[in-house]
Amino acid sequence: MVVGGGPVGLVCALLLENQGYRVRVYESRPDPRRSAALTFGRSISLTLTSRGWRALRSAGVEDHVRRLAFPLRGRTIHLEGGRTQFHAYGPNGESIESVMRDEFVRVLVDAAERRTGIELLFEHRCLGLTPDLERIRFTSAAQTETTISVERVIAADGINSAIRRSFIDTEGFDQSTRYSRHFYRELSLVGPNPDEWPLDPGSLHLWPREDVLLVAFPNQQRRFTGTLFMPMDGPRSFHAVHRPALLQQLFENTFSDLVELTPRRNAEFFGGAPWALGSTTCSPWTFREKIALVGDAAHAMVPFLGQGLNAGLEDVTTLTNTLEELDWNWAEALHAYPDRRKPDCDAVTALAEEHYRELAQESRSPEFVLKKRIEARLIELFPDRFSTPYAVISFTERPYREVHEVAKLQERIVSRLMELPDVADLLGRSSFEEELRAMATPLLWPR
Ligand SMILES: Cc1cc2nc3c(=O)[nH]c(=O)nc-3n(C[C@H](O)[C@H](O)[C@H](O)COP(=O)(O)OP(=O)(O)OC[C@H]3O[C@@H](n4cnc5c(N)ncnc54)[C@H](O)[C@@H]3O)c2cc1C
Repeated sequence: MVVGGGPVGLVCALLLENQGYRVRVYESRPDPRRSAALTFGRSISLTLTSRGWRALRSAGVEDHVRRLAFPLRGRTIHLEGGRTQFHAYGPNGESIESVMRDEFVRVLVDAAERRTGIELLFEHRCLGLTPDLERIRFTSAAQTETTISVERVIAADGINSAIRRSFIDTEGFDQSTRYSRHFYRELSLVGPNPDEWPLDPGSLHLWPREDVLLVAFPNQQRRFTGTLFMPMDGPRSFHAVHRPALLQQLFENTFSDLVELTPRRNAEFFGGAPWALGSTTCSPWTFREKIALVGDAAHAMVPFLGQGLNAGLEDVTTLTNTLEELDWNWAEALHAYPDRRKPDCDAVTALAEEHYRELAQESRSPEFVLKKRIEARLIELFPDRFSTPYAVISFTERPYREVHEVAKLQERIVSRLMELPDVADLLGRSSFEEELRAMATPLLWPR
């Protein structure tokens, strides 16, 4: 059984059905194809990268999802005063893809429904395990409670996982949640002409303003879905901006180029409480050789690296590969799975927090621009041996823990170069190339 019919649970069900398993998916919400309340007023754009695509390919749904996806070739940074800078994701036109969460889930539900081995049970909320951890309790839409014996359970019920919560009082179980200072609200970016895109739809758009960050992705309505990240307290915060006049002031002073593009901002900003963000880790991820946590139920992270979903999809790739390698012996595979996977998820959770600093605080500083120039030069000189962590994470499937280690080394090269007083001039001179090679070579990605 899979508990949680979100993207990770559904892809896991598809992968297991591919192997001949009969899978029941228990989902607390109504069928998303018949309900608009899937994301509680949020549209949430999700970026898919190679790890995510791999799982979707194995599950047999890649083509269907690609039809919904917008390829993004890089980031456009909107500086104060209206100037923009474009940073390509890679020298060869590499792109990530963005999809709207609700459309994506609908496609997965359609695919699951077409499989004879999958049964979808909507409006079945898991209440957790019984105290002896042998049975699972559910309530259905009719409020009837059922209890089902635990045989094999994949817990994919998200950041507030009821299954994970059942283990809190179990000896040896450890869980921690770090809430981010930042909360978020969604705002739509709409141009004056509905037939024209208000911004380049081939790029992710960012407005970094120290502690405040606005990110926008294209959507199917030729608009953009913006997400405004802001602290809860402080001079520029959700508490400080508590009425429309203050929101107008924030936009005029901070996002002047968005004043015209956000005609619904009052309704959207004040339409509900800001949503929280955080990272959750826990251990162990498997119990009694029968239950495994995957996706946000096992590890939730801040969204700034765009990897929460991709990491969750890679969990199910690892889990099913481990099962296959161990001849579908679930007991052995559930022992091996956390050892293989958890260090990677710990690393990507840390990388996501580090990436946030780059996006919000540094993207607009002259140091950041210099850092990007140095990185671009190093990529030119060592195309197969120097890469930003973001690019390696997004365009390869190198283990996250390895990316984290190498990122620390590469950071040292860039910091060393930034200390040179005239590095901006030196970068353009061919005579500097040999020196750069000598400095950088020991710290590059292994071939
Ligand atoms: C603002 C924002 C932007 C993001 N952007 C990106 C991005 O660009 N790229 C990326 O990779 N990730 C991104 N993420 C992270 C991504 O959304 C999550 O990592 C991903 O949705 C996790 O998938 P999941 O299936 O594990 O959990 P969820 O998507 O949370 O799905 C869990 C499912 O379980 C169901 N459920 C919950 N409780 C129960 C219960 N008790 N009983 C039965 N069913 C239950 C839920 O209804 C839901 O359908 C973003 C997150 C946020 C908040």
